[in-house]
Amino acid sequence: MKKNFMLQIFAAFILAIIAGIIFGEKAAVVQPLGDLFLRLIKFIIVPLILSTIVVGVTSAGSMKKLGSLGGKAIGYFLVTSFIAIALGLFAGFVFQPGAGVDLAVQGAEVEAPESGGVIQTLLNIIPENPVEALTTGAVLQIIFFAIFLGIGISLVGEKAVPVQRFFEGLSEVMYKITGIVMKLVPIGIFGLLAPIVGTYGASVLMPLIKVIIAMVVAVIVHVALVYSAAVKALGKMDPYQFFKGIFPAASVAFATCSSSGTLPVTMKNTQENLGVSKETSSFVLPLGATINMDGTAIYQGIAVMFIAQYFGVELTVAQILIAALMGTLASIGAAGVPGAGLIMLTMVLTAVNLPLEGIALIAGIDRILDMLRTSVNIVGDASACVVVEGGKPDAAIKKGA
Ligand code: ASP
Repeated sequence: MKKNFMLQIFAAFILAIIAGIIFGEKAAVVQPLGDLFLRLIKFIIVPLILSTIVVGVTSAGSMKKLGSLGGKAIGYFLVTSFIAIALGLFAGFVFQPGAGVDLAVQGAEVEAPESGGVIQTLLNIIPENPVEALTTGAVLQIIFFAIFLGIGISLVGEKAVPVQRFFEGLSEVMYKITGIVMKLVPIGIFGLLAPIVGTYGASVLMPLIKVIIAMVVAVIVHVALVYSAAVKALGKMDPYQFFKGIFPAASVAFATCSSSGTLPVTMKNTQENLGVSKETSSFVLPLGATINMDGTAIYQGIAVMFIAQYFGVELTVAQILIAALMGTLASIGAAGVPGAGLIMLTMVLTAVNLPLEGIALIAGIDRILDMLRTSVNIVGDASACVVVEGGKPDAAIKKGA
């Protein structure tokens, strides 16, 4: 059954490429199939995050256990993000993607989005109105609210049992719905990818082909070295099983360019194929989908080098260090939605004094780069779960993934 599903996903990729090449821009007629899948998967996210985190917190048993889980996950997120941006900068240095690029910077002025500063950003995690957070899908605020609900339920005890049961039931229902929607993954991938293949002609891709190659190589190195080593050494899991288990979610991320949108599938794969407990995955994955983005960090590194080379700017060591730091922050701050990494790039460029017009250059191929970075982002989140579980006996591969 599982093998069959993988084959269907592969077939969807191949059919999408063929349809895109044959029908060109006309392939856009299948877009509604992609949108159908996207909408179905998106409506799962808010109730899923809310209910699973509440259940995760109430079943973690103690605050100490929860703190240790969160601490380990955030430590892992930071280390891997930093490796990722270093790798991106290095790939940008080796491949020199911006040297000799013959493209005019067109497009209007690009402005960096206003950021209220670190303190305001942190304060914004606390929702003033949790219902508003739920209706607007503000993931960090929902996580915050859900953690506190869970703590409250645990502290109240007896009287709060019905509330706890409610969330347990809701989370089971949301998992079930995820299972149903997942059957449509191959159709969704086909509907989303065929139009992309059809629209991107060689004239858009060729001048920036070195950026794409640098990204592909850096992504492969990061996934093959960092994640393999982490899941093997810290999570006691065979890397091949790990990659195989997370493949469906990585494909969905590739097609949707949204870590948050992929969350239901990432959760399902992580629990069923990688044997990660519900407590860990329901806590680590929503957090990871929002703040842990290694693919986005790699991209920030490559993009900074590309833009500096295009404008003939020699970056100083200090500028490179600032780029590394700001790139990590940008990857943490980027939302798990399509194109977020491109917007956050303005922050990094401003910090290292590079012209913001550089954004217009790279925007033309952003969708392609986004597919790569989003897949890495969610594989990184899943690896965090495996590492945090640390090869506990119940983390053995279940159900023959
Ligand atoms: N699309 C990415 C994600 O959802 C974020 C980005 O644009 O880098 O993970």
